[in-house]
Amino acid sequence: MHLPTSLKLMACLTMSLNTFASDHADTLLTNATIYGYEQADAIAILDGKILDIGDSEALAGYRTANTEVIDLEYAFVMPGFIDNHNHVFEAASEAGGNCELDMDALADEQIPYLKACRRHANPDEWLIGYGFSIDAVLHEDNRHTPLEVIDRIFPDQPVVIMEQTSHSMWVNSVALAEAGITSRTPEPQGGKILKDETTGELNGILLDNAGDIVMEMAWNSLKNQFDQSYKGLMIGLAEAAAHGITTIGDGRLYWKRGWYEVWKEAEKAGDLTARVSLRPWIYPTDAMAPQLDYLKTIHTTDRSGLLLTNQVKMYSDGIFVNGTAKTLDPYHDTHIPDEPFGINYIPPNQMKTWLSELATLGYSAHIHAIGDGAIRESLNAIEHVKRTQEKQQSTKQQATKLLYTLTHVELVNPKDVPRFAELDVTADFQVGSDYVAEHDHGWAEFFLGKMRTLAMMNLRAIYDTGANLSLSSDWNVHSINPLVGIANSLKMAKTGLPNVHAAIDAYTINAAKSLGIEDITGSLDVGKSADLVILEKDITQLSINQIAKTEIWMTMLQGKIVFDIDD
Ligand SMILES: [Zn+2]
Repeated sequence: MHLPTSLKLMACLTMSLNTFASDHADTLLTNATIYGYEQADAIAILDGKILDIGDSEALAGYRTANTEVIDLEYAFVMPGFIDNHNHVFEAASEAGGNCELDMDALADEQIPYLKACRRHANPDEWLIGYGFSIDAVLHEDNRHTPLEVIDRIFPDQPVVIMEQTSHSMWVNSVALAEAGITSRTPEPQGGKILKDETTGELNGILLDNAGDIVMEMAWNSLKNQFDQSYKGLMIGLAEAAAHGITTIGDGRLYWKRGWYEVWKEAEKAGDLTARVSLRPWIYPTDAMAPQLDYLKTIHTTDRSGLLLTNQVKMYSDGIFVNGTAKTLDPYHDTHIPDEPFGINYIPPNQMKTWLSELATLGYSAHIHAIGDGAIRESLNAIEHVKRTQEKQQSTKQQATKLLYTLTHVELVNPKDVPRFAELDVTADFQVGSDYVAEHDHGWAEFFLGKMRTLAMMNLRAIYDTGANLSLSSDWNVHSINPLVGIANSLKMAKTGLPNVHAAIDAYTINAAKSLGIEDITGSLDVGKSADLVILEKDITQLSINQIAKTEIWMTMLQGKIVFDIDD
């Protein structure tokens, strides 16, 4: 049908999109500017779902005495943000104390901070701290090893301090003894035990999985950890809601630390303010069979609830600053010269087996892959599983759709760029820090050289292939604010996303696809969950700098207000 433009407009104005027979709404949002609906200014919500989108007059018919009418005064309504990778559980946790060091200090300079941690610590349990940089405490200007420094302040209580990236731990001798680590201990899969170059003695820094193992011990020894975790989770969820986030892809669920039980309690108590895809951690040094047995017990197929458990979190490699990200060409310089290409948490062949076994249980995977080597190996493993599954599924009627995401994706070899689209693998990026927006990766040059450093974080290369691309915060590594991520992805110019709509998609519907819930949430459509965020201004009409500063006024999950700026 070809109507003249003016008539088309009139048709739109009087139409509503509702195809369901219902005559009343629980909530009516009126006088709204609605993302994607230029002709509409009202949204009707019933039973947590979007009942209708249209103009206020047409939707007035849904109003009854019980309908809550919210006049938005032309504020901007868009789908709730989906943060595909957020450590909401850990980021605000103070389990083990609130010991925080200086991010830039040399080992000796940390002494006042370590002393402050000691004053607040319970001397009868492990002390868990946070926040130092491996570059600073291992810098050549240090006169003592990190171990010598920490042992002076903590001679008889076990201490583990997590580096700002979470990829290394600073531990004292008591902690090393409790974990049974000596200078002769074999290194665990995915981990490195650092030693002083001249003496060959332990220097108190454990990289990646070597540190994770000690942290696990520390965490599980804490009394009161359930209550502290619960409290931390509530703070984290409130922070997410205040930033318009209605769905969270969990950064990782350390299920051997009792975290799953904390989440389930929050669900039972009605305390969840976001839909959450929990991602149980694959432990690299534990046997596969018992892990699979456990994963079977927590797997969910029902996607209507707020907690979903159908993706695992798996690390292919570590990170560049540790020398543990896996590369195709050797590092220029590294903390671990015996591993010039970095290391794997889960080696390529094991990953194939893991993904195949997980697929039979209905689990997909969110895979940490940073180096070009890890990215290639992960894509190979996914390709292997997809091919095998396709063969098997031709005999099966109903196949579960397997959704794979590579997260971080910092350095991709040009040959692997088209494979994301070809294999239907989501690429998840974090851009919520200034240095990423400004493409200031000078820190990596020392490890990778100039060419590889310049090639890092190229969102556009992947975007242009048509692959599904999501943005996330990795909070608290980067800002939790999706508007900062959206603005930064545009600030990146030719390596960023092409326009604000692509950036919004990356923080909404594309992330929903990565989680397999794009039919439930991720866009404003009739029949979908009323997961939405209300902002002071229409961000599609703002400059990049204004986008990041836009206020979030209200967040709704399933039609319920979970954040209101006036509260
Ligand atoms: Zn993370």
